[in-house]
Amino acid sequence: MANPTMTADPAAPSTLAERLADFQPETYYDFNDPDAAAQMRAALEQVESELGRTYPNRIGGKDVTMDETYASTNPANPKQVIGHFPRGDEAVGERAVEAASKAFEDWKRVSPAERADYVFKAADVMRRRRLELAAWMVYEVGKSWGEADGDVAEAIDFCDYYARLMLHYGYDEYPLAEHEPEDNQVVYLPLGVGAIIPPWNFPLAILAGMASAAIVSGNTVIIKPASESMAIAWKFVEVMDEAGLPPGVLNLTFGSGSVIGRRLVDHPKTRFVAFTGSKEVGIEINERASEVRPGQIWLKRIVAEMGGKDAIVVAADADLDAAAEGVVTSAFGYQGQKCSACSRAIVVEDVYDDFVGRVVERTSKIDPGSVVDGAWMGPVVSASQFRTVSEYIEVGKSEGRLVLGGEPDDSTGFFIPPTIFADIEPNARLSKEEIFGPVLAITKARDYDHALEIANDTDFGLTGAVYTTDEQKIAQAEEEFHVGNLYINRKCTGALVGVHPFGGFNMSGTDSKAGGRDYLLLFLQPKTIARQKTA
Ligand code: NAP
Ligand code: MG
Repeated sequence: MANPTMTADPAAPSTLAERLADFQPETYYDFNDPDAAAQMRAALEQVESELGRTYPNRIGGKDVTMDETYASTNPANPKQVIGHFPRGDEAVGERAVEAASKAFEDWKRVSPAERADYVFKAADVMRRRRLELAAWMVYEVGKSWGEADGDVAEAIDFCDYYARLMLHYGYDEYPLAEHEPEDNQVVYLPLGVGAIIPPWNFPLAILAGMASAAIVSGNTVIIKPASESMAIAWKFVEVMDEAGLPPGVLNLTFGSGSVIGRRLVDHPKTRFVAFTGSKEVGIEINERASEVRPGQIWLKRIVAEMGGKDAIVVAADADLDAAAEGVVTSAFGYQGQKCSACSRAIVVEDVYDDFVGRVVERTSKIDPGSVVDGAWMGPVVSASQFRTVSEYIEVGKSEGRLVLGGEPDDSTGFFIPPTIFADIEPNARLSKEEIFGPVLAITKARDYDHALEIANDTDFGLTGAVYTTDEQKIAQAEEEFHVGNLYINRKCTGALVGVHPFGGFNMSGTDSKAGGRDYLLLFLQPKTIARQKTA
């Protein structure tokens, strides 16, 4: 059932609902099962034996090495090198754009069904290599086994889902009004060459999601992965090689975002940029891409998914244990390094002290440790992330009451214990700025209206949750809580492809929805063809 093109004529029109009817996200491994745990340990051992190799760029189907390299390291043990990667410069960026432009001339003529088939195959390859890919992320970016497995599962889901969407947009009829004596149609064409610039925090899922959507739509791409997660990016090249993708459709160049990333964004032959990362870089990309450079014959399209300052609101009538559980999981899963992480809990005063106590009690059982050995919580991703989060902890000490954690320790790796500040004012920096680490700010609200008002008082608008048993309060949140992904009586992380289309409002991005029905349209342009009937 992995590949719907095997069982049905892929070019037969069907409705979008029919195309998606049998899509289901992957289920997760249960590592409490001794068999699954043994398989994961074997995958980790295998990957450990492959650490420290040197990798090339991939340009126009060729492996391109460079003299100057830089290393990706294990954040739990920075002395351990995951791999050495070329430090791509502007010339490499130039070369990659040329290769992608050349490949586009052929790729745009490949049928949507055939393009979808490569992407379905990529999903199958990742299903087969699932724990190996997960193990790379445990080493390279400090994900727990479960988080790493979820990342691979999401990458598979994106490929499977977008390939199905392409079968829809590639063949299904665009409803148009009858207009005799004409035959009219709308067809979707790809855009051209795209720069794909993902973050390190979902280093396979987001990379694979943005790249597969662009590629299946008939575009060619240059991926510039984050410098903290280069090995897993190369693994995606291997996946696409196994799927048989033609040379030049996917190019991958390593190097600093401020050098090669900027070159890709600026290049006049770049037609679009798909970016996921911080607000600061997203704003810069949007500004740079808006400049029309010599030889450029289009305005670039920008898909930018950016940060969050996500809140969970707790009403007086909430199930406080469920709410505390939701807050703790959302705040500290993957060390708080998710765009969807709960960084603010906003609690009405009647239950405030009670709730703070429950959150602290649960969190105090979490002990960061070795994710290779199966710990639930690991290190933050890098020295610079360690510094930034540590600075925010100092800010928090002056802005509120430290009730748990607060002592970062980088003597072995970049470990920061889960840290909770209570009594943070709505205008504090801890309420406004994305920290992207295991730091939770708890704020007291007068009542539910006030809590929603505080929750909305941010530049961002990515995820949010409310815990309440009152239908009226639920309806109020549905109407007033201005976030792209709103959750009721559940955690605010863990969006599933095809189930919870994902993406935020305001400074959280360009209002797109990854894993949703309209995402592919961001990588396509419609062409209208009107034909006069002859007698
Ligand atoms: P980041 O620092 O903005 O980097 C993201 C990517 O941009 C990296 O590949 C980076 O390369 C590249 N880059 C940096 N400067 C650039 C420039 N001037 N021009 C072009 N590219 C440039 O973000 P991050 O630290 O990797 O990721 C964390 C952020 O991502 C958080 O803010 C989080 O909220 C956000 N995020 C959002 C979503 C969402 O769906 N809304 C999902 C996940 C993460 P280098 O690594 O080489 O600098
Ligand atoms: Mg690393």
